[in-house]
Amino acid sequence: MVPIPKIAPGTEFGPLRIRGERVFVLTGAGVSAESGVPTFRDAGGLWEQHRVEDVATPEGFWRDPEMVWRFYSQRRLKAREVQPNPAHVALAKLERELGDRLFLCTQNVDALHERGGSKNVCHMHGRLMSTKCSRCAREPFDDENAYEAPPKCPECDALLRPDVVWFGEMPHHLPRIFETLEQTDLFVTIGSSGAVYPAAGFVSHLRTVGRARCVYIGLEEPENAHSFDECRLGKAGELVPSLFEVDKR
Ligand code: NAD
Repeated sequence: MVPIPKIAPGTEFGPLRIRGERVFVLTGAGVSAESGVPTFRDAGGLWEQHRVEDVATPEGFWRDPEMVWRFYSQRRLKAREVQPNPAHVALAKLERELGDRLFLCTQNVDALHERGGSKNVCHMHGRLMSTKCSRCAREPFDDENAYEAPPKCPECDALLRPDVVWFGEMPHHLPRIFETLEQTDLFVTIGSSGAVYPAAGFVSHLRTVGRARCVYIGLEEPENAHSFDECRLGKAGELVPSLFEVDKR
């Protein structure tokens, strides 16, 4: 039988004690919200005043590459102004404590986990500060530039594009992610609406393979709440710093 999740304000729960368990943390846009990076849902389907279909799909890019590059260039400029919040910093501390027993996977394209001190971050939806060719196999490269006009690949002359995973595209690192899920004892999702797949399905996958305790942290109940053991409601920046208690013995 599927257990009924306990859904309550985060302050009603005790810390998650870790004594040798393997921990998988999945973060979504909500972990960066307190840093001032807008989420999808808060804007009612619009993303920084744009329709998601126009700026986050391959079709939108090919319809108007100039507008899409202006959008991501604006986001690159804005990204310089935001700072990691206490949730990012707490997850970096957890990495120092757990080493490779922590797998931090983010749906976010921002670099706030790294800027908060995390060294090993799996960016399943790509990175804002990276660019790749829309046609050839040239390696994606670090790129903080803001472009007025769509840049071209120096090797094949096709358009370059932001190295982010758009709707309808395959996320990165899925084999590694699913392999890690199989070995996970504690799965924690932070600030993700549970509406964007495949990430939203990781928790139900864990239910089929077995043994992990599954905890959600976020402002409101996610769409996939039924698959978690607990939904701890509140802001990531307030709940995450006291969420984990690592037993170092
Ligand atoms: P989402 O926008 O669908 O959902 C965000 C969730 O975070 C909501 O459930 C909301 O209640 C919660 N939330 C808002 N403020 C919070 C806070 N302070 N603390 C805790 N939770 C909070 O985001 P998603 O589920 O990550 O999926 C949408 C897609 O959006 C992803 O693919 C991601 O790549 C993309 N995205 C990324 C960024 C970023 O890089 N920072 C920003 C917007 C969207």
